[in-house]
Amino acid sequence: MPPRVAAGRALPGRASPLLLQFKLTMLQSLTKLREDIVKIGKLVFDKGWIAANDGNISVRLDDATVLCTPTAVCKGMICVDDLIICDMDGNKLEGLRERTSEIAMHLTIYRMRPDIRSVVHAHPPVATGFAAAGRALNIALLPEVIIGLGSVPLADYGLPGTPALTEGMLPYVPKYDAILMANHGVVSYGTDVFQAYFRMETVEHFARITLVAELLGGAKALPREEVRKLFESRARYGVTSRAAMEPGAPAVAEDVQPSSERFEITRGELLAIIDEALRARGVLA
Ligand SMILES: [Zn+2]
Repeated sequence: MPPRVAAGRALPGRASPLLLQFKLTMLQSLTKLREDIVKIGKLVFDKGWIAANDGNISVRLDDATVLCTPTAVCKGMICVDDLIICDMDGNKLEGLRERTSEIAMHLTIYRMRPDIRSVVHAHPPVATGFAAAGRALNIALLPEVIIGLGSVPLADYGLPGTPALTEGMLPYVPKYDAILMANHGVVSYGTDVFQAYFRMETVEHFARITLVAELLGGAKALPREEVRKLFESRARYGVTSRAAMEPGAPAVAEDVQPSSERFEITRGELLAIIDEALRARGVLA
């Protein structure tokens, strides 16, 4: 007759069923996180936000380790076994491929934001165009963007692969959930890889709409009072965002379109004013 063992108690020399179950659950969740990163890598590539081997994606596993995409691989074509695990100093702990030097940017964000579990970095062309033109995406134009992100600041340029890459971002990381990187790209982050990805999607969509509005004669910012109401509506929509309403971020109608300083005039009207001024001074008869 086999010995009776109380539930959850290990036989001598065997792991307890509870420990085995815990390890299995951890393994399943790690596998799921690997699959999620691969899925987002494909989405980012298919949307044309990266070319060749650009960009990187990471997920914080716990206080000490990060799962991330490797360097020198197209993120649209990676498989789960390509991913690597690093410690919080960027040292590789697991994985066959090499880690990216841009992992330092991810680790900086994790250190500064305990609430963040995932970081996505890519070069979406329209938002990166704004970053290359030295322009933040900070005009109060669209309710969803104001509620979700507040505005998107522009961090100073920093040489990739060096600490300078993240220096310009440091003032913005605690206050914003997506940042334009001058002459480089975009970084966004969230509580999981999907939220980090969706925030980048919002940034690129916002950049496209802003560009079209400007091509059509100029984006018209919402007035301060309407923007204030949108910030207040976050709780109603269950949106948690660090970005608060600050002077100029986002820039409201009163900031960008002071009525006393902007006016339109035709060429004929301008010439008539000049003629009148010259006549008044006796230059013209
Ligand atoms: Zn990059």
